[in-house]
Amino acid sequence: MTGRTWHYVVVGAGSAGCVLAWRLSADPACRVLLLEAGGPDRKREIRIPAGFIKLAQTAYDWNYRTTKQPQLSDREIYWPRGRTLGGSSSINGQAWTRGHRVDYDGWAQSCPGWSYDEVLPYFRRAEHRVGSNMGGVYGTSGPHFISELRDPNPTTSAFLAGCAELGMRRLGELNEPDNTGFAPTPVNQRRGLRNSAADAYLRPARRRRNLTILTRAFAQRILLDGARATGVEYRDAAGVTQRVTASREVIVSAGAVNSPQLLMLSGIGDTDQLRAAGVEPRHDLVGVGGNLQDHPACAVTMHCPKPITLFSADSPTQLARFLLLRRGMLTSSVNEAVAFVRTDPALAAPDIELVWLPVPLLGEGLTPPPGHGLTVGVELLQPDSRGHIRLASSDPAEPPLIDPGYLTAESDLRGLLAGLRVAEDLCETAALRPYIGAPMAPWPGKVDDATLTTFIREHAQTAFHPVGTCRMGNDDAAVVDCQLRVRGLDRLRVVDASVMPRITRGHTHAPTVMIAERAADLIQASNHEPEPGQSDAA
Ligand SMILES: Cc1cc2nc3c(=O)[nH]c(=O)nc-3n(C[C@H](O)[C@H](O)[C@H](O)COP(=O)(O)OP(=O)(O)OC[C@H]3O[C@@H](n4cnc5c(N)ncnc54)[C@H](O)[C@@H]3O)c2cc1C
Repeated sequence: MTGRTWHYVVVGAGSAGCVLAWRLSADPACRVLLLEAGGPDRKREIRIPAGFIKLAQTAYDWNYRTTKQPQLSDREIYWPRGRTLGGSSSINGQAWTRGHRVDYDGWAQSCPGWSYDEVLPYFRRAEHRVGSNMGGVYGTSGPHFISELRDPNPTTSAFLAGCAELGMRRLGELNEPDNTGFAPTPVNQRRGLRNSAADAYLRPARRRRNLTILTRAFAQRILLDGARATGVEYRDAAGVTQRVTASREVIVSAGAVNSPQLLMLSGIGDTDQLRAAGVEPRHDLVGVGGNLQDHPACAVTMHCPKPITLFSADSPTQLARFLLLRRGMLTSSVNEAVAFVRTDPALAAPDIELVWLPVPLLGEGLTPPPGHGLTVGVELLQPDSRGHIRLASSDPAEPPLIDPGYLTAESDLRGLLAGLRVAEDLCETAALRPYIGAPMAPWPGKVDDATLTTFIREHAQTAFHPVGTCRMGNDDAAVVDCQLRVRGLDRLRVVDASVMPRITRGHTHAPTVMIAERAADLIQASNHEPEPGQSDAA
């Protein structure tokens, strides 16, 4: 590959990178190279919707750990990230949630062009809704399939009835502009199989001769000529260092952990921090790796007296149902229904998400359950805490330091407490009572605030939604401008979850796809002139 030139080199084939590869290579005259550190996405558990639980800590997972979190009893929290074609969309829970209107209107206050009304067409352009579509909320002709669960667990309708009992609003569709209320989870599935970003965007493009996809290609550095990005240095599957050239742009889509890491490895970041890590600074940009946000989460887990939960998903009967009919428990995304809740009615938008999982989620999802059980996950949607990603060293193979700063803002602890109380009320509704047995450890059952606080500190985890580490904006600490160009450099963009200025009220795959859909238009509108002496032809 050394010496070859493309118009665009995209680093990372995740939620965002797959969208870009497809959209940019739609023009046959445009040559696109997609570099992915992981291998192909051939594993069976990627296709089987409920299989993602088994992908944790495998070759398909970067398997990160945070630094010790002082507010979480000094624990190092497990952070999975997808490492294969499709990126995290190949190992995620498939929930398609756009977030709330105010999320994007908030972005637009400092980032013109990103208001809800302006980004909505990009969500719709991505969407291929199958099933209920009240009010025409969803797009129906895009590449990314959004289905209803084929065989929801019997307890899921009880969860929805319990939410109604508490006076919450039944949403016609979960992705209405105001998502306050409850609904079954819309999922990225097609006919009972996961529909990752790779399935939606890369597979249809595989035959395009102008798109080259390289797996096991680990980008180590962005090549700079003065202030201009000219290409990427990567290590190939054989461990050999290669260089490729981009005549128009290099686009970094390596996700909220690896995009800032790659910028910093390339000398782009806070000068003092770079020197401390042994990297020669090339461009001072203090915000790289800062502004890290994630949804902290807690799990209320209970035994279930009826043997009907997903604990049985692995049985031969369920496997046969899946293989023969694409039905049964293995088609579950595990997160089967959600409620977006305002714990204070004065709030303009939800502050808590309740997630219904018809199986016990124990030990950050890594501990096998002891038997049938249920989980109400509680996620804090607008945390005030901020963290950062920093280099541990100048060695690209060494994982970066991930410090989400969980609960460093005290308001976040209060928010999680309030959310857990709503989850407790829900478990006491008449609708859910027949399915709820004794508390399942570590959930202590109904306890006072002090004991509940200890539970949070000892068991809170990630909801898997890191964002914000290459934040867009126009101020000095912003990393990219509102067109996602790295500030102060030429022909270099970041396009992925890391550019979000503020985390959304919902899961983060759909917003990331939307960002990439819009970025594709911004990139194509750029019309780069070739530099003197440089050919634009690849
Ligand atoms: C277990 C789990 C469950 C989740 N559940 C949901 C859910 O149900 N719904 C939802 O909306 N969101 C969910 N998310 C979050 C969502 O999947 C992510 O927010 C989204 O996929 C992020 O997209 P991205 O493009 O920013 O990064 P990613 O999709 O993570 O893509 C980054 C890609 O870049 C590659 N890469 C990284 N570094 C390099 C390098 N140096 N060189 C080459 N390639 C590189 C990676 O291997 C990866 O393929 C979940 C995430 C996880 C991990």
